[in-house]
Amino acid sequence: MLDQAVKAYSRPPVIAARRGSPALRQCCDSYICPVCTQVVELTDYRQVLWHQQPGHQPMDLEA
Ligand SMILES: [Zn+2]
Repeated sequence: MLDQAVKAYSRPPVIAARRGSPALRQCCDSYICPVCTQVVELTDYRQVLWHQQPGHQPMDLEA
């Protein structure tokens, strides 16, 4: 009876649930701007703010 209790506690149920999150994040880190068709990185808030302006030009990423 004691053996059964120990086995139940040694199962790691959390690890499997965490596996999927990096791939899921990667798909949502960027999007195509509908105004200037440039790729916007959501991790860079300067790009996000720029592409929220109506009628803007593509952001100059080289500068
Ligand atoms: Zn844009």
